[in-house]
Amino acid sequence: MKLIGHLINGQMVDDHVRTQPVFNPATGQISKEVALAGAKTVEQAIDAAQQAFPEWRNTPVIKRARVMFRFKELLEQHADEICRLIGEEHGKILHDAAGELQRGIENVEYACGAPEFLKGEFSKNAGPDIDSWSEFQPLGVVAGITPFNFPAMVPLWMYPMAIVCGNCFVLKPSERDPSSTLFIAQLLKEAGLPDGVMNVVNGDKEAVDTLLHDPRIQAVSFVGSTPIAEYIYSTAAANGKRCQALGGAKNHAIIMPDADLDNVVNSLLGAAFGSSGERCMALSVAVAVGDQVADELIERMQVAMQGLKVGVYSETSNDFGPVITQQHQQKVIGYIDSAEQQGAKIVVDGRNLQPAGYEQGFFVGATLIDQVTPKMTSYQEEIFGPVLQIVRVSTMQQAMQLINDHEYGNGTCIYTRDGEAARYFTDQIMVGMVGVNVPLPVPVAYHSFGGWKRSLFGDLYAYGPDGVRFYTRRKTITQRWPSANVREGAQFSMPTLN
Ligand code: NAD
Repeated sequence: MKLIGHLINGQMVDDHVRTQPVFNPATGQISKEVALAGAKTVEQAIDAAQQAFPEWRNTPVIKRARVMFRFKELLEQHADEICRLIGEEHGKILHDAAGELQRGIENVEYACGAPEFLKGEFSKNAGPDIDSWSEFQPLGVVAGITPFNFPAMVPLWMYPMAIVCGNCFVLKPSERDPSSTLFIAQLLKEAGLPDGVMNVVNGDKEAVDTLLHDPRIQAVSFVGSTPIAEYIYSTAAANGKRCQALGGAKNHAIIMPDADLDNVVNSLLGAAFGSSGERCMALSVAVAVGDQVADELIERMQVAMQGLKVGVYSETSNDFGPVITQQHQQKVIGYIDSAEQQGAKIVVDGRNLQPAGYEQGFFVGATLIDQVTPKMTSYQEEIFGPVLQIVRVSTMQQAMQLINDHEYGNGTCIYTRDGEAARYFTDQIMVGMVGVNVPLPVPVAYHSFGGWKRSLFGDLYAYGPDGVRFYTRRKTITQRWPSANVREGAQFSMPTLN
């Protein structure tokens, strides 16, 4: 059986303290094993990055950007292979994998602009014959720890920006679907990146803890579930590291009485069930303002959901695939059970879906639940499956209160034709990424991505302008070349230029 290893200093190695099976979630079969690195292997990756840093840091930024231009071309050339690897191990349908890859490539395109965004700031004559400027210097060796649900895109949020800014990188991808991540990282060598600048170690908690405690790691970017994000943030901070840790979500859509319901139904189908609901921006709660809206929405959703096709990644007429593991399948089904037990009404039940020919796969069918209340476990926690819950309220204020009271604040959306209501909503809602008639308001690569409340620990968002700030350190230099006419005696008070 194929053993998936690590990329260290430009070489593939497969040292491990343990291995873990990698499944094809559509068949339920083990397809590969992944090597899980121990502390020694992770330290070798950090060594390689540390050694590559002085030369990479001093490489002119235009040359660093050229690596990214070539990397983008290679990603496009190898797109089919990358999407196949994503489909095999994650289970998402090929066209969805292509969408993920494209959003990742857009971050590489943004990184190509480094000569512009690293120019710095300059003030001539900040004082008499004094010039002052700020530079944005790389941090050194930085690490990324990424989740299973976007094995290509989320790592691409991180290392193209980190590397183009002059840092060296150690990536610890999800151990559940590591192949596409590793394949993509190997393309960087072909794009001209010197060995050691980019390293990938597969592993679990032991590898992560090594990264969090090694003093050579200057900064950690994490994307994953909230309990782990909180652990990563507090441990990294306690070890003096810069950290951004993006966590889980519970994204609500408010359906106003004046909304275009046909548009809402189409939007919700994709946003709730696409990628089996395994997206941190998935819309998992629809808050209907008024019973009439709720009843009509449910009626139309029931009809539309009959047409959904669920199955293997390679059949592109499928709308979505399996969830990632059998354990996760049982967890999602458990949430549906709990909603039922706590008094909600299961309108469309996906608990027993077994697509023909894929009976052992980790499938959950699209599920619609009505009469959900904020006290229910299925409302409070992130399900991360193809489950849409309907909560009924009487006013927009009540809908907004629900969202503001929830522990997560990643994404949200309002469906309305009323510009005043939409403007009030976007201004007052306590969520980081907000849509108006747009179900998945994922910021484009030249903005930045992040949630509020317990959806993000840290100050700076992922990618875009915040990514530049995260992966660089400001240094401000104030300079004067004394000449006869500016030479002064000792000054004991702060100069004020008055
Ligand atoms: P996860 O938290 O289980 O794993 C994420 C990473 O952390 C993996 O690399 C994993 O190996 C590592 N990890 C897991 N347990 C650990 C531990 N005890 N100690 C140290 N490291 C550990 O998340 P997942 O299941 O892979 O991904 C799904 C989650 O990610 C969902 O909660 C989803 O909302 C979230 N997510 C958030 C965003 C965002 O931008 N906010 C984006 C994608 C996914």
